[in-house]
Amino acid sequence: MLEKIVYDITKFTALDWEDHLSAVLWLKGCNMRCPYCHNADVVFGEAHISKKEVLSFLQNRIGRLEAVILSGGECTLYKNLPTLAEEIKKLGYKIKIDTNGTNPAMLKEMVKKNLVDFISLDYKAPRIKYTKITKNNNFDKFEESLDFLIKSMSGLEIRTTVHTDLMDENDINHIIEDLCDKGFSGTYYIQNYIHTDKTIEKLPEFPREINKSLINHKIPIKFRN
Ligand code: SF4
Repeated sequence: MLEKIVYDITKFTALDWEDHLSAVLWLKGCNMRCPYCHNADVVFGEAHISKKEVLSFLQNRIGRLEAVILSGGECTLYKNLPTLAEEIKKLGYKIKIDTNGTNPAMLKEMVKKNLVDFISLDYKAPRIKYTKITKNNNFDKFEESLDFLIKSMSGLEIRTTVHTDLMDENDINHIIEDLCDKGFSGTYYIQNYIHTDKTIEKLPEFPREINKSLINHKIPIKFRN
């Protein structure tokens, strides 16, 4: 029987990658347990779609879609992701990856082989809070990805989701300082927590708003809802 790797496919979106009509592949499973995660179905659920079915779907969409977003869950847990990306590229699509950065070896391989055009990297929290928020102790691996991508990838977005019961303005400023020190010159995105009934942990629905006047604007910053 064919291995199922994808939990679901969003067949068409213009929102997940600016200026790109894309499909999103939600690869199953994650090595983190962020309390605010609203993709619990993808993190804990069973995959339903095989690689063959993914490629057949994309074959049928040639000319109508421009790009494919590899998301999850954490898509780099799938060990054959570079091969999948290679096959998607052969169909003529651009590729964006959403990642928490804990698999630097795979990200390096994919960047060096030109298998990815854009990466959205989650900077979950400063080192001191990283494990508490993600339930994962791979900050060193994340930092290896961060350092590599800042040096090597022009299509790079770095983002943090903030629920102010978990992270405050000091934590955000700590991240901004770190990005400055590392020479990041792109835009840093701060994303507000969006409440749903499906988050991994129950969090207060209406947290305190971020006090934007306390945020250090050493690099370009955008706030997203
Ligand atoms: S928000 Fe956290 S738990 Fe959810 S998919 Fe992303 S890294 Fe995994």
